[in-house]
Amino acid sequence: RYYLISSFLMLALTAAAFYLLIRLMKNQQLYAQARMSFTSNMTHELQTPISTIAVALESISKYHLIDEPEKLQNYINISRHELQRLQAMIEKVLKQEQMDLGKTNLQFTLFDIQSVLKQVIFSMDIQVREKNSQLILVPSDEPYFIKGDAMHIANVCYNLIDNALKYSPAHSKIEVSCSIADGELTISFKDNGPGIKEIYQQQVFERFFRIFSQDNIHNVKGSGLGLHYVKQVVELHGGRVALQSKIGKGSNFMIILPLYEEN
Ligand code: ADP
Repeated sequence: RYYLISSFLMLALTAAAFYLLIRLMKNQQLYAQARMSFTSNMTHELQTPISTIAVALESISKYHLIDEPEKLQNYINISRHELQRLQAMIEKVLKQEQMDLGKTNLQFTLFDIQSVLKQVIFSMDIQVREKNSQLILVPSDEPYFIKGDAMHIANVCYNLIDNALKYSPAHSKIEVSCSIADGELTISFKDNGPGIKEIYQQQVFERFFRIFSQDNIHNVKGSGLGLHYVKQVVELHGGRVALQSKIGKGSNFMIILPLYEEN
C-alpha cells in the first residue's frame, strides 16, 4: 500500500513538474515574441521621425531654401517637432528601464489630485481638438489629497487619457472623475471607444503587450509599455489598477490610491 501511495505521489509530482515546465516555456516564448514585436515596433517608430528629418535637411540643401525663408522655416519646424517626438520616445524607454531596475526614486509630496488632472487635461488640448473629441473632468467640490510622486502620477494620468484618445474614433467622449470609498481614492478614465476583450483585460498591463487585430483602431502605433508603467507606478504608491471594458461599448480604466488622511 505504501509503495502504491508513494508511486502515485511520484507520478503526481512529475506531472506537476512537467506542467510547470511547459507553462514556464510557454511564458518565455510569449515574452520573447512580445519583446521581438516591441523591437520591431520601436525601430519603426524611431525610423519615421529620423527619415522625416533626413528628408527635410536634404530638401533644405538641395533646393537652396536659405533663399526662401518661409519654406526654410517650415522645414525647420517639422524637424524640431520630429526631434521632440524622438526625444519623448527615447525618454519613455529609458524611464521604463529604470523602473524595471528599481532605480526610480519617487519624490513623495502631498498634493491635490484634481489640480494634477486639470494640468494634464490642459496639456492635451491640441490632441483632443485634432480628434474633435471631448475630454471632461467631472467637477468635484472638494480637493482630494494624496501622498505621492506628482510627476509620475501625472504621467500615469497622461498615459491613460492618451490611450483613451488614441484608441477611440474621432468625436468621442472621454470622462475623468474622482470618487472616494473606504479611505481610497478612485480615479476613473472612461471612454466610449472599441473596448477590450475579456481575455486581454489582465494582459494589457503586461510589459510589451499590445492587442493585434485587423481593425484600424488597435493598429495604432505604440510600444506596449504605457499600461505596464501605469501599473508599476500605482503599485509603488500602495495602490492598484482595475479595468472594466466591453467590446463595442468602451473601457473604464481605474487607478485606486490610498487617500491621505490627517491623524
Ligand atoms: P501601447 O498603447 O503603446 O500599445 P499600452 O500598454 O498603453 O501600450 O496599451 C496596451 C494595449 O492595450 C494597446 O496596444 C491597446 O490595444 C490596448 N488599449 C489600451 N488602452 C485602450 C483603450 N482605452 N481602449 C482600447 N484599447 C486599449
